[in-house]
Amino acid sequence: MKKRRFAGMLAVLTLAGAVLTGCSATSSTTVQTESSSPQGEKTSQVVNIYSDRHYETDKLLLEEFSKETGIKVNVIEGKSDELIERLAREGKDSQADLLVTADVGRLHRAKEQGLLQSAESDTLSKNVPENLKDKDNQWYGLTVRARVLVYAKDRVDPSQLSTYEDLTDPKWKKKILVRSSDNIYNQSLLASFIAVNGEEKAKAWAKGIVDNMARTPKGSDRDQAKAVVAGEGDVAIMNTYYYGLLLNSSDSEEVKVAKQLGVFFPNQSTTGTHINVSGAGVTASAKNKENAIKLVEFLSSEKAQKQFAEANFEYPANPAVEPSDLLKSWGTFKPQTINLTKLGENNNNAVQIFSQVGWK
Ligand code: FE
Repeated sequence: MKKRRFAGMLAVLTLAGAVLTGCSATSSTTVQTESSSPQGEKTSQVVNIYSDRHYETDKLLLEEFSKETGIKVNVIEGKSDELIERLAREGKDSQADLLVTADVGRLHRAKEQGLLQSAESDTLSKNVPENLKDKDNQWYGLTVRARVLVYAKDRVDPSQLSTYEDLTDPKWKKKILVRSSDNIYNQSLLASFIAVNGEEKAKAWAKGIVDNMARTPKGSDRDQAKAVVAGEGDVAIMNTYYYGLLLNSSDSEEVKVAKQLGVFFPNQSTTGTHINVSGAGVTASAKNKENAIKLVEFLSSEKAQKQFAEANFEYPANPAVEPSDLLKSWGTFKPQTINLTKLGENNNNAVQIFSQVGWK
């Protein structure tokens, strides 16, 4: 038993060390190191975050939070799935108070593993719309992304596009690019269709997309966009922020790719475009629950939302805050209105359907 725990401690330090060397600009509001004792963490003036975000903007916002509240913020950065695995491994002993990660599919997985707890707050009820948070208040959406269509401007007239369902029409045979089904964004997309249209129609959709795929799924969302420009297909399914990232890339080839693509919001006269969030949940092991809630309140506030969302070209979750000019330039859109908790609840079903229809 003792040996196991020691191995766990080592992992903590290794990961923290990796972050320290991997990031420039560490400051008092950044990374937890071995100097923070478990006793020290119990004081009311600290909050420890596990986060998959690594933006300079976040550091500034967290510094501002610390200045306002006197609460020191320690961040351990890592990949989403690794952070969740780590929380599970550490159990009650975890020093983390807050998990910040992308996609409801993941947040829900953390909830189902008992790694999160309910956090009630009038401020959060006001700042985060009902459909963008967990029905048991175990996580709150902080930024919103849409899973849209991007198309080759030289080959596709946007009037040919309409709905996700239309992508299964034979006219798109060998024209559709989309990544693999082990990707959480696709799982959440199909989970939303199960919620909106029922299981049968969701399955027919997945089968229809497989029939129209330009190639066996491979690569990231951005790779699908690049494949459209390379002529491998005409339409790709991708998250909005990846288009923003391409357009603002330091790699001029990526900027070129973005400029040859149009963005289309599907299902505008029907069920709405699929949306998802990145968000935060107070951990089950939180020793500083109140501070964690205060931090989520701060990040969901009008003051912080614009910057927090803009760091990754996303939409603010707080409806009082306007999206950036770039996002506004893509037009306004009607989103799906389902409670996003359903994306998590239908995840297993979605994964099963993907395997039944042979979506690699
Ligand atoms: Fe992503």
